[in-house]
Formats: sequence, structure tokens, C-alpha cells
Amino acid sequence: LLTGLLAAGSPALAQQKALTPAVIEQRITELLGQMTLAEKAGQLIQYSGRELTGPASARKTDLLNSIRQGQVGSMLNVKGVQDTRAIQAEALKARLRIPLLFGLDVIHGYQTVFPVPLAEAASWDMAAIRESAHVAAREAAAAGIHWTFAPMVDVGRDPRWGRVMEGAGEDTYLGAQIARVRVLGFQGEKLGGTDAVMACAKHFAAYGATIAGRDYNAVDLSPQQLWEVYLPPFKAAVDAGAATFMNSFNTLNGVPATASRYLQRDILKGQWQYPGFVVSDWGSIREMVSWGYAHNISEAAQKAIAAGNDMDMENDAYFDALPKLVPEGKVDVKLIDDAVRRILRKKFELGLFDDPYKFSDARREKKVFRDPQHRVAARDVARKSMVLLKNERSVLPLTGQGKIALIGPLAKSKRDLAGGWTVIADTAQIVSAFDGIRQRAGKNAQLLYAKGCEAASDSRAGFAQAVETAKAADVIVLCVGETWDLSGEAKSRADISLPGVQQELFQALKATGKPIVAVLFAGRPLIFNRIADQADAILYAWFPGSEGGRALADVLFGDYNPSGKLPSTFPRLMGQIPISYQQYSTGRPVVDPKNIRYRSAYLDAPNTPRYAFGHGLSYTTFRYSDLKISQPRMTPAETVQVSFTLTNTGSRAGEEVVQLYLHDKVASVVRPLKELKDFQKLSLRPGESRTVSFTISRDKLAFYNHDLQWVAEPGAFRLLLGSASDDIRLEADLELTE
Ligand code: BGC
Repeated sequence: LLTGLLAAGSPALAQQKALTPAVIEQRITELLGQMTLAEKAGQLIQYSGRELTGPASARKTDLLNSIRQGQVGSMLNVKGVQDTRAIQAEALKARLRIPLLFGLDVIHGYQTVFPVPLAEAASWDMAAIRESAHVAAREAAAAGIHWTFAPMVDVGRDPRWGRVMEGAGEDTYLGAQIARVRVLGFQGEKLGGTDAVMACAKHFAAYGATIAGRDYNAVDLSPQQLWEVYLPPFKAAVDAGAATFMNSFNTLNGVPATASRYLQRDILKGQWQYPGFVVSDWGSIREMVSWGYAHNISEAAQKAIAAGNDMDMENDAYFDALPKLVPEGKVDVKLIDDAVRRILRKKFELGLFDDPYKFSDARREKKVFRDPQHRVAARDVARKSMVLLKNERSVLPLTGQGKIALIGPLAKSKRDLAGGWTVIADTAQIVSAFDGIRQRAGKNAQLLYAKGCEAASDSRAGFAQAVETAKAADVIVLCVGETWDLSGEAKSRADISLPGVQQELFQALKATGKPIVAVLFAGRPLIFNRIADQADAILYAWFPGSEGGRALADVLFGDYNPSGKLPSTFPRLMGQIPISYQQYSTGRPVVDPKNIRYRSAYLDAPNTPRYAFGHGLSYTTFRYSDLKISQPRMTPAETVQVSFTLTNTGSRAGEEVVQLYLHDKVASVVRPLKELKDFQKLSLRPGESRTVSFTISRDKLAFYNHDLQWVAEPGAFRLLLGSASDDIRLEADLELTE
């Protein structure tokens, strides 16, 4: 009671209550009036603080001096209550006492590691994904962090690009839904709570379209593709209230994204009326010089601020250049004022002016890190993320009886299961496949183990022992994949097949005649044709995080019925890349796969992928029946209901992701054969039937025409409902009239 009374009477709280948007703008105006140009430029600077917590160095001294003089607005890579408090105290020594913002890449968890973002996308479960972001934010916020550089909402259609791991896959619609829930998960409904952090939608824009899947490469994209495929997840992030945006390393049609007025001023801050601020990517202002887009760093700074880049992350560009460019007449101070205003606004909204230490509370840090619910949430989304690609002769679920040979380089790995972009260094808390399976298997099953080989070496020395182990077992669970450091930033691969001799290990085990369940860990779609052809069951487990091993056991033993669906197409061969389910019809479509003469086809491979977007099996089966459409024709002002009956026809409870695709048959711009327009994830008991309905509005029929207008053209559409993009169960025609 006493603390309650004290809090209610505290001036800090009273002030905070009075922080309406109008009051915030007023206070910013007052503050701007007192700031020197150097202090204004300072608010636009973000430095990495790794050195600050290390031994004495010239850089450390310089940085501390700049902070004390109010010439730094934000730090990244400083974390933990102790360090953030200490550095905030330095910032508050400055004349105007403007608090620092602490930013960090909290990509898939902070203390508790969640599955990598691409994995979570495979859950198609918006509540679980939102909860994952919320837990990550709660832990990060308890450790003094105000701001995460996530979500990455870049659509990625090239699995060579290592950063597909950080996104939501290849699809724009799914990506936009996920962008929304991730932003809401990180931030909550409104900034200012201490269990939330600011989100950052990145990388604006089109980073995922990097040529040949090579990271940091140029991007050359048609306006239609930009607007239709790459921008909608960013728009969804704006609509969800994302506090910040990050621009990007790539060029877009010849202009570095960081220097793009079109992206930042015309689209984001113009057309979308975005009130937040834009941070550069690490060094991306400076990189304009390497691109050959600016003669020197000062010109790069000038171009960046003119284009709408508000904050400078680790460039040393704004710091030196802006205070000179203004008196030289090369940069209008109004541009700087606007950028400062956008940044200060967030500091006010977070409540940092009232309590600069509000996120840095040692007791909360301890308490939050111990919350057992966080591990529960991590396990929940990890098992929902795993995708059952194949299950023949019902080898899965495992019975829990007999002898299981657990084999493979990733069977006992902990570090790999965490994936890239992890904050904590402590891998002891990660549950390996071996530990998870051993805990679950219990007394009735015997677990045998052999490593077989390393994930990425050529040595077959361990094969013999693996084969011996397999021979003694009833079933083999083979854990193979990529190591954690093969996907993520700067981790593009020209060859995305399963590394090393892992497929040879598989073949050696196959020769024993024992049933093989292959479990693949990876941050991207891999190519593993021999396993795909010959394994009895395949479970794609991605990098599943702290609770990975337990989640895996849940799925393997059937305690959880798998429900994941691929958010990315899995190619058969490298030469099919880039590949997506969103194919266009051509003037020469393949009519008969046996006769491809002068067709749009390859001589040496089919056009179809190994596993299609949306694919994923269950231990039960679902029937789609009784399609009904409320009316076969609609005007742009009307909506149509499409409904059908979904029945669980198997003997286990299970979840199905019902997918609605659409095809616009004739249009002024050639349309893809299929575009995802909606989906629902439903849970059904054995034998249960449920009516599922979708609403079709004009918006679902619209696209960007040649003049980049968002139009729905009258004509015929085909609606396709199914369990995967290549498993359509029901179809109907719909006509849009004038
Ligand atoms: C990445 C960003 C990241 C930043 C800060 C850059 O190299 O592209 O996504 O947020 O570093 O760590």
C-alpha cells in the first residue's frame, strides 16, 4: 500500500499522465529551441557500445566524451541493467539531460531463444508468433533495452540468401500478417510499458531481392514487383504502429536505399504518413562511397538526410558532416529538426524523459528471466514450427517402445539449435535433440547414439560405428542439417545442399534396411534429394531454439500433432532458383510434362519444386467438402462469402492451415497463377467437422496496374482452396462486374 501511495503521489507519474501527443510536440519544440546544432546532430547518432564495456581505449574515451556532451542519441549493443544504467548516467551529465535510446538485435528471443523467424513463419500461428515477440520484448526490456531491430519483414525468394532465416518466407500476404503480429508482440498496443520495446521494420526496401541471393548485392526490380511483393509487409508494419524503420544495404534500381527519397520521403513519410523515424543500416551511409554514389562521406551524409534517413548507425557520417553542411548551405536545418523531432518523440513516448532508468531495474531483470512461462511459449511455437514433409508407412509418430538409434552431427548439438542472431552466450540452457528425446522416451525405450560425421566435413570415419548402432535399433532418427553459422547475415551460399557427407551417412544407414526418420535443422530451405527420395519420414525442424529438443520429442512421439506448413518453396535443384509458388503463366505453358518441346521448361528438371509453399503433413487427415459461394458475381462495393466444410477424417486431434488462393484470369498486367489471399489455422477433434468461411472483398481482387494504381479489374477470377499451394481441394469461379 505504501509503495502504491508513494507512486501515486510522485511527480514523475503525474507528468507521465499528462504526456498527450500535443504536450509531447510542445515539449519537443521547447527542447529544440535550446539545442545547438551539434546537439541536434548528436541526437541523430547511434554508436555501438561494445568498447564501452571493455578495457580502456582511445575510442572508449572519445565515445564517453561525446555521450557526456550530449552528442550521441542512441547506443546499440549495450545490454543488461548494469551497463545500460551506467551509460545512461553518463548521458544525463550532458547540458540538456536527454536520455539515450538502447537498441539491440533481439531477433528471436533474448534470454529464452525462440525458433528463428523463418521457422516461426511455418507455424502460420499468429497468436504464437505474437507471444514469441512479446516474450522477447519482455526479457529485453527488463535488461534495459528500449528498441529491437526487428522484425525483418523482407520477402525472400532466394534460399541462397542467408537472411531468409530472419524473415517470414516468400509470400507477401503471409509476410504482412506476420509483420503485423510481430510489431504488436514487441511493442504492445502503445509504447511506454516496461514489458515492451520499440520495433523496427527492416530493411526498407527490397533487400530480399538481392541479385543471385548474394548478401549486400544490388537489387533491380520492376515497380510492380516492388509494390506488390516487397512493400506490403512494410505497410502492414506501419499500420501496426512500428515505431521505427531501418533502411537497407542494397541499391534499388541504381539508388542506394539509404539515399532513396522515393522510398523514404515519397512512400514512407509521404504517402504512408509515417510518424516514426528511420535508422540507417550499419554503415550504410558510408557505403554510398563504395557504391560510387557519393564522392566522400560528407556528400553521403548530405544525400542520406535529404532522402529521409533520420538516424546514423555507426557511420561517423552525420557526426562530422552535418554541423558543417548546415552553415555551408548544403543541408537545410529544417531537415535536421524534423529528424530530431521524430527521435525525441519516441523518447517521450517511451517515458524516458520522466524516468530514464525505467527499463533498467535489476529486480525486474532477475524476475523476468526466471519466468517459467517463457520456456512454455518457446516450446509451443517450436513444435508448431516443425514441418512434417514426408511420412510413409506411418513410421511417425514413434511408439515409445523398443530401441531408437539417434544418429547424426546435430543430435547432441545445443548451439546449432539456437540459430544465428542470439543474444545470450549461454548454450547450456538449450535442450538438444538427444536430451529432449531421452527425457520423453522414458523407461520403455532404449536410446542409442552415434555421431556418424561432422556437419560440414568430408570424413567418413564415423560411418561404421553409426551403422553398427543403427543395426542394433528398431528405428533410426537421423539429425542432420546446417550448422547455425551457415545462415543469417553475410551467410549466402551458392550451394544450398546438405553440407559435407551427411547424405552419404544417410545412405550408409539406409543400407541397414531400418526405417529412417530424418530430422533436418536449418535456417533456410536446403536441397537433400537422396533423403527426400528414400527416407521413411522427414521432419523439418529449422533452428528451434531453447526448447528445441523437447519440442522435437513432442512431435516425434505424437504428443503434439505437427501442423507446420512451409513458408518457402523448397527447390529440387539450385538451377531452379529463384523459385516461388507465385509463378506466372507463360505464352508456352507446359501442357504435357512428357512433351516439353518449345515449352517454358528445363530439359533436365521439372518446373515443380521438391516441396511446395504451404506443404506440411499431419498425423491425421482432413477432408474439404461442400464448397458454397454466397453469390457467383460481385460489384466492387460488394463482398462474397466462400465457405466449405473441413472434417478431421483421422483418429487424432490436429490442426489444419486452410489456404485460400486466387487467380485473376485476364488482366491488364499478367497475373500469377496463384496468390495467397487468406488462411485460417483450425484445430479439430477426430471426426469433427467445421464450417470455414472467407470473405472476398474488392481488395482481395486488386493489384497494381501498369501505372501503379491499385485496381480491381472486372472479369473472371478463380478461387482455390487447399491444404498447400500444390494441394488444391476445392475451386470456384467468381466474377467481378462493373
Ligand atoms: C544488419 C541489421 C542489424 C544491424 C545492427 C546490420 O549489419 O543488416 O539487420 O540490425 O547490423 O546489428
